Amino acid sequence: MNMSAEKPEVIKEASMLKQKEMITRNYDDLTSARETGRKVSSTYVPGNLNELLMCFGILNNLPEINAIQNGMRKQSGAMIMDAEKSGHSEDVCTYVKADIGHMARGSIAPNGKSMPVPDLLLLNYTGCFTFLKWFELLRDEYGCRTQMLHVPYEGDGKITTNMRDYVVRQLKEEVIPTLEEVSGVKFDIDRLRENLRLSAKAEDDFVWVLESAKNKPSPIDAYFGGVYYVGPIFTAFRGTEDAVEYYKLLRSEIEQRIADGKGPITPEGEMGEEKYRLVVEGPPNWTSFREFWKMFYDEGAVVVSSTYTKVGGVYDFDGFRHDPDHPLESLADYCLGCYTNRNLPTRVDMVEKAMHDYQADGFLVNSIKSCNSFAAGELMMMREIETRTGKPAAFIETDLVDPRYFSPANVKNRLESYFQMIDQKRQSGRAA
Ligand code: SF4
Repeated sequence: MNMSAEKPEVIKEASMLKQKEMITRNYDDLTSARETGRKVSSTYVPGNLNELLMCFGILNNLPEINAIQNGMRKQSGAMIMDAEKSGHSEDVCTYVKADIGHMARGSIAPNGKSMPVPDLLLLNYTGCFTFLKWFELLRDEYGCRTQMLHVPYEGDGKITTNMRDYVVRQLKEEVIPTLEEVSGVKFDIDRLRENLRLSAKAEDDFVWVLESAKNKPSPIDAYFGGVYYVGPIFTAFRGTEDAVEYYKLLRSEIEQRIADGKGPITPEGEMGEEKYRLVVEGPPNWTSFREFWKMFYDEGAVVVSSTYTKVGGVYDFDGFRHDPDHPLESLADYCLGCYTNRNLPTRVDMVEKAMHDYQADGFLVNSIKSCNSFAAGELMMMREIETRTGKPAAFIETDLVDPRYFSPANVKNRLESYFQMIDQKRQSGRAA
C-alpha cells in the first residue's frame, strides 16, 4: 500500500530485484578487489570486451556507469562543480567531469566503500574522441597501465574484412598479451567460446524484449524502461549465467504483460491508455530521470524504440550475435558495430526502420548538451526522418548528469506542444 501522498510506491518485479542483486554483488566484488587479489580494468560501455576480461578473472569497472549511478543519486552536480573548479571546461562531457570529481572525493561506490585504483585502463576506442582524452586524464592520475584497442570508424556504413582483421590482430598481438601479463592467467580460447555462448543466449532474449514493443499496447517502455533492460548486457554481466537468467525472467514477465494486454510499468505505476508511440534518439537525462519519465507517463506517451538501447552494441538492426565459433572476429564485429561507431546515414536508416517496424506516431530527439558525439547531426536526422516518414519530429535539449541543464518547465512545454502537433497531424490525416 502506498502511504506517501507525494509519490506512489515503485512496483518491483522479480527481474528488477535480480538486476539489483547483480549490481550490488558487482560493486562488492570491485570494492573488495584488493583483499581478494582480483585485478580490475576500467573500460567503456560501447563495444566493451567483457567476455574476454572474464577469461582472465579481471573485474570490469565502467566509469560511465559510475557517473550514471551518481547522477541518479543526485550526487553528480557537486562532482562536476569540483572538476570545473580544478580547470575542466563547461563544455567537457559531463560523464568525464562527474568521474573526475568522483575520484577526487575518494571514488566511493554505492555500497559506501572506495573503488580500487584500476590495474589497467582498457581503452576500447569506438567512435567518441572523448574516450581518448578521458583515459589520458585517468592515466595521469593513476599512473596505471593503459592498453588501447583502436576500432576503425564505420565511415562507409559497413564493416570490411580489412577492418575486422585489423581489430582481431590487435586483440591477438596486443590486448590478450596485456591481459595475460596483468592477470598472470594464460588465455584459454575455449573459455572465451563458453562466455560468448552465454552472451548469445542472453542476446536472443534481450532482442525479444526490445521487439515486444511492436505489440499494441507496448508492454515495455524502450527508453526509460530500456535503460534497465540494457543494464546487464551492456556492462559487466554479458557472458554470465546471471545475464541469461535475468533476460529469461524478464521475458517471461513481459509475455505475461502481453497476455494481459498491459502497458509498461513505470515508477508512477502501471501505464494507462497508450496515446502516443514514439521513437527517441539520444541518452536520457539521469539527474531528473523520474521527473522526465513522468512527463511522458502523464501524457500517455510510450517510447517503443530508442537508439539508446543500441549504444553498447547493436543487436536488433542487422541481427548481430556474439558467435562462439568465431570468437575474436565476433568481438571485433561487436566493437565495430556499436552505435557510437556508426555514421549518420546508418543512424537515420536505423531510426526510419524503427518508425515503420514499431508503428510510431513520431520521432523525438533528446539532444545532450555535453555529448558532441551524439548531438552532432541530430537536427539533420530529425528533418530527414520527417521527410522520409511524414511523421512529426521534435527536439529537446537536456544533459546527462549535470542538473544545471535540465529545465523541467521548458522540457514539459516542448513535450506538450509536440503531443498537440501529433494530435493535429492525426486529425488532418483523418480529414484528408
Ligand atoms: S559518447 Fe558522449 S557521453 Fe559518451 S564519452 Fe563520448 S561525449 Fe561523453
